[in-house]
Amino acid sequence: MSGVYLDNNATAPVRPQAREAVIAALSLVGNPSSVHGAGRAARAVVETAREAVAALISVPASTVIFTSGGTEANALAIESAVASGSRRLLIGATEHDCVTQTALASGAAVEIWPVNAHGMADLDWLAERLSVWDAADGRPFAALMLANNETGVIQPTAQAAEILRAHNGWLHVDAVQAAGKMVVDGRGCGADSLALSAHKIGGPQGTGALTFGPRATLMRRLHGGGQERGRRAGTENLSGIAGFGAAAEACRHDIDHLAAQASWREAAVAKILSHAPVEVMGEGGLRLPNTLCLAMEGFAADLQVMSLDLAGIMVSTGSACSSGKVRPSPVLSAMGHERLAGCAIRVSGGWATTEDDWNRFADAWLEAFVRHQSRRPATAA
Ligand code: PLP
Repeated sequence: MSGVYLDNNATAPVRPQAREAVIAALSLVGNPSSVHGAGRAARAVVETAREAVAALISVPASTVIFTSGGTEANALAIESAVASGSRRLLIGATEHDCVTQTALASGAAVEIWPVNAHGMADLDWLAERLSVWDAADGRPFAALMLANNETGVIQPTAQAAEILRAHNGWLHVDAVQAAGKMVVDGRGCGADSLALSAHKIGGPQGTGALTFGPRATLMRRLHGGGQERGRRAGTENLSGIAGFGAAAEACRHDIDHLAAQASWREAAVAKILSHAPVEVMGEGGLRLPNTLCLAMEGFAADLQVMSLDLAGIMVSTGSACSSGKVRPSPVLSAMGHERLAGCAIRVSGGWATTEDDWNRFADAWLEAFVRHQSRRPATAA
């Protein structure tokens, strides 16, 4: 690809290992459910991938259900909770739209669990809310992402889980952005269920997984065959799953490269800050090493993105699902930064990103900023 790709939180470039695994799987003829040799070969590909995905988050392979992506994995957890009697869902204020919208569409009541100015979920709110829980609302269910797609802010999921457990609650963790960018301990993070997506870690788009612990009651979401332990009928996406497994295996050995991005990112921010009074969203909390949410009051996000694009630098205005239609970021609004919600960009590195990419971003951003300033009407003295 020509240019500098810094939009890995939207989708990461496919890793060579994943591409090879996809191509190899496409050459197989078997249906993983067939009992003959070809079927068994296809089944082996699925189960090898399951082992690799499970190893990435340190859970038993038997608890991994493959889905069509992060969106479906989140939906499987939320809809299972509602099907098993949860009538009120507590949804983190900065969750991805696929979590919030699935909760709203589920028929259960939804309460938004607030975050502070750094984007961290308010644990006191959770404890207080659960202390007056109405038994008629069934088992408490809460969704809290491990890391945010726009700011990279890492949530205190283990502490949230402790609070929920005292009330027999279920914590669902969307780890779609965290996986591959930090060490994710699938059970240690407190998750009763946890969602992953292949294309955020260098696997193919359209594949994901849900892993579940003993306290989660999963429903049968798609009916028909008994695939995926009866939770999701339908012939498996063999090539997608193979690519997911290969990407998971590769990124287990790549965590240091991702961790190095934090210092490259900080150097880029320091360079920009020496010329422009930008603000870094979520800076007060723990963040993923690869993600930067940078706001400059008075410099619209879409203008920033377009200017950078002309310079060959690809970033986004926020969640990929909302790009194309530029709208102020609901994540920043939830953090109380409405003022900046229309002028923040997201810059996200990945497995293929170099230190020079972050440097080039900083230089291009400053050039765009200077041009923008020179075009602004002078304010009256
Ligand atoms: N959860 C988060 C935090 C995301 O960032 C995304 C995608 O942007 C999703 C879920 C949805 O994943 P998928 O695109 O695999 O459906």
